[in-house]
Amino acid sequence: MPGGADQTLIPFLWRAERLYDDTEIVSRTHEGRVRYDYADYADRARQLADVLSADGHGRGDRIATFCWNHHRHFETYFGVPGAGTQLHTINPLLPDHHVEFIVENADDRVIFVDPSLVEKLEGPAGSAAFDGVEQFVVMGDTVPDTSLSPVTDYESYVAGGDPGYEWPDIDEDQAAGMCYTSGTTGKPKGVEYTHQMLWAHTMTTLTPQGIPVADDDAVMPVVPMFHVNAWGLPFSTTAAGAKHVYPGPSPEPADLVSLIEDEGVTVSAGVPTVWLGIQQYLQEAEGDLSTLERVIIGGSAAPESLIRWYDQEHDVEVVHAWGMTEMSPIGTVASLKSGMDHLDYDGELDKRTKQGMPVPGLEMKVVDDDGNEVPWNGEDFGELLVRGPWVTREYFERPRATEEEFEDVPASDASGESEEQHSSGRWLRTGDVVTVDEEGYVDIVDRTDDVIKSGGEWISSVELENAIMAHDDVAEAAVVGVDHDTWGERPVAFVVPAGDVDEDALAGDIQAMIEADYPKWWRPDAIRFIDEIPKTATGKFSKMTLREEYGDRVHVQDVPEDAAPEAEEE
Ligand code: ADP
Repeated sequence: MPGGADQTLIPFLWRAERLYDDTEIVSRTHEGRVRYDYADYADRARQLADVLSADGHGRGDRIATFCWNHHRHFETYFGVPGAGTQLHTINPLLPDHHVEFIVENADDRVIFVDPSLVEKLEGPAGSAAFDGVEQFVVMGDTVPDTSLSPVTDYESYVAGGDPGYEWPDIDEDQAAGMCYTSGTTGKPKGVEYTHQMLWAHTMTTLTPQGIPVADDDAVMPVVPMFHVNAWGLPFSTTAAGAKHVYPGPSPEPADLVSLIEDEGVTVSAGVPTVWLGIQQYLQEAEGDLSTLERVIIGGSAAPESLIRWYDQEHDVEVVHAWGMTEMSPIGTVASLKSGMDHLDYDGELDKRTKQGMPVPGLEMKVVDDDGNEVPWNGEDFGELLVRGPWVTREYFERPRATEEEFEDVPASDASGESEEQHSSGRWLRTGDVVTVDEEGYVDIVDRTDDVIKSGGEWISSVELENAIMAHDDVAEAAVVGVDHDTWGERPVAFVVPAGDVDEDALAGDIQAMIEADYPKWWRPDAIRFIDEIPKTATGKFSKMTLREEYGDRVHVQDVPEDAAPEAEEE
C-alpha cells in the first residue's frame, strides 16, 4: 500500500518507546512488585518475538496465554502479534473440558502459563486436545515440578532473543488476537481480532467519548487480560504513553487499594464485583483513593448505588461502559453529552447508570421480534444490533453460529441507505434487550435469555436486581424467572445479605421497595437468601446455574389476583 504503514499495533509501541522511554510498567507478581520502563519493555517484547520467529512460528500460528495480569503477560501483548503470530488469551477459570475444546479448536502451538495455574492446566493438558502444543512456558524464572512437557521458564525462554529484532511487515488484515466467549450455553465461540480491529478499537477508546487515557495517567486494569484484552487498556495505555500497573494473581481489595496508593493509579477498570468488593473493604478499613480519577465499570450493569458511593465518598467518577467479546469489546460509554446542564445530580446519575452512547465509529439499531426498528423514546425495547470496524463479522470455524448471530443487511436497510454506503453490512445480534432514549443512551433491560415473561408481560430481571442491590443490607442479588403453571414464569430473587441481618425483615423491606417503584406483578414470588451468587468464568452472575440449582426447589405461590399483569392499571 503506497503512502505508509498499515493499521497495526506496532506504531503504538514505537511511539511509547521513543517518546516515553522512562515511563514505568509496574506489576504485582508472586516474586514481589516488579518495575521497569517502556525502553526495557520494548526490548523484552522484541526478544520474545525473536524467539517465536526463530522457533519457526509465523503468520497463522496461535500462541496462547493462561495467565493473570502482570508485566510478562503484557510482553506477549506486543511480542506475539509483533512477530506476526496470533495471541490467544485463555480464561483460566473455564472448566477443563472448555479449555480442552478451545486449545484444540485454536490449534495453539505454545502456551504461556502462570506458576499458580500450572496445576490447573495439567488436567486438560493430559488430553489429546493438547497434542499440537509444542512448548509450555512458565511465567517466572524457574519451572515447578510438573507434568507439562516440554516445559521451560519464561526468563530462560526470552533470554536467547535479540532485543534488536526487527518487526516483520505485517498486514492490517492479519490476525493479532483471539478470545473465546465463555458461552453460557453450548461450546465457547472463538472471536479473532485483526491488527486493524485492535488499531481501530484503540483509536476510538482514546477519544474523549471513549475511555480515554492521557500520558500522565497511571492505568490499572483489574479486568483480566484473558478477557477481551483487558478491554483494550494495555494497547490504549501504550498508545498514550501512560504508566501501566498490573495487579497480578488473585488480587484482594487490600492489594488493589495499596497499588492505587503506592503507584498513584488514576484510572482503573473492572466488573462491578471488583468495585463492590473494594467498597465493602473501605467501609471497614482505611484506604486512600485520592489519586484515582475514574474507574471504568462494565461486563455487567453497574448499580446506581455503586456509582453514587464512589462519587460521594471518594470523588471517583464511575464511567459505565458496555461491550462484548465480539466487539473487541467497547460499544457504548455513559459519558454525559453536552447540553445536559439542566440536569440535577440525580438526573445526571440516571444517564450515567445507563450503558451509554455508541463510541465514535460504531453504528447501532434496535429491532423488535419482526426485525422492525423501534423508536428511540426510552420506552420501546428490542434487540440491539451493532456494526463497526472493531466488531467481528464471524465466529472462528463456526458457520452455523455465525449465521444465527449475525444479520446481513438487505440491499436497502431501514434507514433507506444502500448497502454500498456500508461495506461492512453485517450486523451483530448482541442478544441484549435494550431501550434507547431520545438522547441516544442505551439502557440494557435484559439478556434475551434472561428476560422474564409473566402472563405474556415482560419483567426486567436487571431492574429488579438493581432495585434490590440498592438496599444497604444486600451484598448481591440475582433475579431469575421460574416456571409457573398459570403465568408461564414468575420472578424469584436470590439475595446475599451483607453480614448478619434479620432475613425476614430484609425480605419485607425488599418487597416494599419493589412495590413502591414497580407494577405489583413485578414483586418476586419468593426471596431466597443464599451465601453467594454463582458466577461465570468472567465473574458475572450465572443465572443458568441458579436456575439449575434452585429452580425446582423454589416454591412459587400462586400470584394474588390483584398482582396479576392484567390487573395493573396503565
Ligand atoms: P462472556 O462474559 O459471556 O464471555 P462477554 O464478556 O462478551 O461475554 O459479555 C457480553 C455481555 O455482557 C453483553 O452482551 C451484555 O449482556 C453484558 N454486559 C457487558 N457490559 C455490560 C454493562 N455495562 N451492563 C450490562 N450488561 C453488560
